[in-house]
Amino acid sequence: MNKRYIGVDIGGTSVKLGIVDDKGQVHLRKEVVYTEAGSSASVMDVIIKSIHELADGSIGIEAFSGIGVSAAGCINSVEGKVAMNGGNVPNWSQTEVCHILRKEFDLPVSLANDANCAILGEFWTGAAEGYTDVLGITLGTGVGGGVITGGRLLEGAHGFAGELGHFPTHAGGAHCICGLDGCFERYASTASMIRSAVDVDPNLRNGRILFEAAGAGEMHAKSILDNWITEIAYGIAGYVHVFDPQLVLIGGGVSAQKEMLIEPLREKVLSMIMPDFAEDLEFKAAALGNDAGMVGAVYYLLSKEELTGNM
Ligand SMILES: [Zn+2]
Repeated sequence: MNKRYIGVDIGGTSVKLGIVDDKGQVHLRKEVVYTEAGSSASVMDVIIKSIHELADGSIGIEAFSGIGVSAAGCINSVEGKVAMNGGNVPNWSQTEVCHILRKEFDLPVSLANDANCAILGEFWTGAAEGYTDVLGITLGTGVGGGVITGGRLLEGAHGFAGELGHFPTHAGGAHCICGLDGCFERYASTASMIRSAVDVDPNLRNGRILFEAAGAGEMHAKSILDNWITEIAYGIAGYVHVFDPQLVLIGGGVSAQKEMLIEPLREKVLSMIMPDFAEDLEFKAAALGNDAGMVGAVYYLLSKEELTGNM
């Protein structure tokens, strides 16, 4: 039998878990919403209980080879803990995730940022499989990012690297949650698109309605969508010049909009970048959906084990 791992994806409102084998296939999934788990339980208590339940419902915890954890927030993957900026997860800053889970389960454990895990998942078994240089941008409430360069995840000194959403693209621009002004995220997130749309027409209150209205030829919606895609394209054009990727991978719910997002975005980016960078550059939508984080978390664990021999 293939080796089995537990992949854990910790988000702001719920934790997703799955059994992932050494080929990146997911065998069993579970999702626990924190608010349903009892108000007194801490996030780590919920995670520990959920891992036990998942393992007990299959081959038993002793039979697993490790736990790969993906988490929201600013993650110090070198130290296996959450940094000062804990994102949206309740009471999350400074949580020693790896230490707590190793103590509980006596297994190798790794921790990495959720956007980095998502791109690693796609790199292993998803839309970025077979590429060595990939720029991943996830469009949602914020803008997540991850960079694969020369077949490896770009991590930086602490594991913080790839925060593509917090690159300032507008001098003196809108204030961002990270503390800076004018970040790419403030202009390229789906949340910013919706903010612009609602200012013009209160009916355009979510992405689905906006895309439908633009598809039906509604002028306000078309113009908002076009301006938004231009903002995204500016950021990507800069990143393409920095990282020279083969593939730009777009994630998030809106990435399903091939005709109205991926294709016009591709055209805009290609028109902005130097011709040599544009020659073979491909654009794709992410393919793994909700599994990407847990699959990528396990890939991250495997890549660390390969480097260190142990975790
Ligand atoms: Zn920012």
